[in-house]
Amino acid sequence: MAFEGLADRLQETLKKIRGKGKVSEEDVTQMMREVRIALLEADVNFKVVKDFINRVKERAIGQEVLKSLTPGQQVIKVVNEELTALMGGEQSKIAAAHKPPTVIMMVGLQGAGKTTSTGKLAKHLQKQNRNPLLVAGDIYRPAAIKQLQVLGEQLNAPVFTLGDQVSPVEIAKQAIVKAKEEHYDYVLIDTAGRLHIDDTLMDELNQIKTEVKPDEILLVVDSMTGQDAVNVAESFNAQLELTGVVLTKLDGDTRGGAALSVKAITGKPIKFAGMGEKLDALEPFFPDRMASRILG
Ligand code: GDP
Repeated sequence: MAFEGLADRLQETLKKIRGKGKVSEEDVTQMMREVRIALLEADVNFKVVKDFINRVKERAIGQEVLKSLTPGQQVIKVVNEELTALMGGEQSKIAAAHKPPTVIMMVGLQGAGKTTSTGKLAKHLQKQNRNPLLVAGDIYRPAAIKQLQVLGEQLNAPVFTLGDQVSPVEIAKQAIVKAKEEHYDYVLIDTAGRLHIDDTLMDELNQIKTEVKPDEILLVVDSMTGQDAVNVAESFNAQLELTGVVLTKLDGDTRGGAALSVKAITGKPIKFAGMGEKLDALEPFFPDRMASRILG
């Protein structure tokens, strides 16, 4: 399960302080030393760890905490609040344009789960009585169009395609015309991925962005890739100005580094978590629930 190692380590550490009737500055420092190692071992970005530790210490060593009636619990409350803040604080919802359709571009490296997440997001929207149009904008990976069509059939959602001989910019443009004419309220554009970030890909994504002015650009990243996921998010954000992140494969045994670092490094919220391969395995990301899950 995701975060298992991190959760075990943190819970073990916090247990030592939880019941204490008196907590000293030294106790907090010792605890945070252990928390620091646990976070680094979970592949959390070192700068994120450093800032986090400093913030917790600053608050936890304050008089109101250490002199309170339940100092152990107060310290843990601070850790919980700061962990929540680290992952974005409030839940960040999907955009809704004032004037439909809301246009969402799905971007990311190949294999991250982009096409699957596009289908999952369509299902999530359908459950809210929305009417999404899926757009097959990945014309390079041979099976991508078909893959989206199969998902569309399962969802009973239409998939807009012009085959693989028309440019993705044109496909996106025409899809939006169709969505307006036929009153779809969301347009989900699946775009091409590559194995690595390259300029040609970024140019193309930027052209689509300029042309369709999306309400959201969601980066799909694989949480199993840890710090790499964070580096990818930084690069995509620098080039495209993301509006949010979909973190996939949180059902696997990811150590958690990506989930805990991506918001702090990019400033962009995690909006959804992929929890499996099935179409209903997409959950809105709640930082507070995730923090509580990790801290037990
Ligand atoms: P794309 O190249 O980014 O479009 O990636 P795909 O959507 O084709 O997904 C790549 C693989 O990851 C597929 O086998 C998906 O079933 C799998 N996948 C995607 N999201 C998740 C997830 O949240 N959990 C798990 N376990 N597998 C996922």
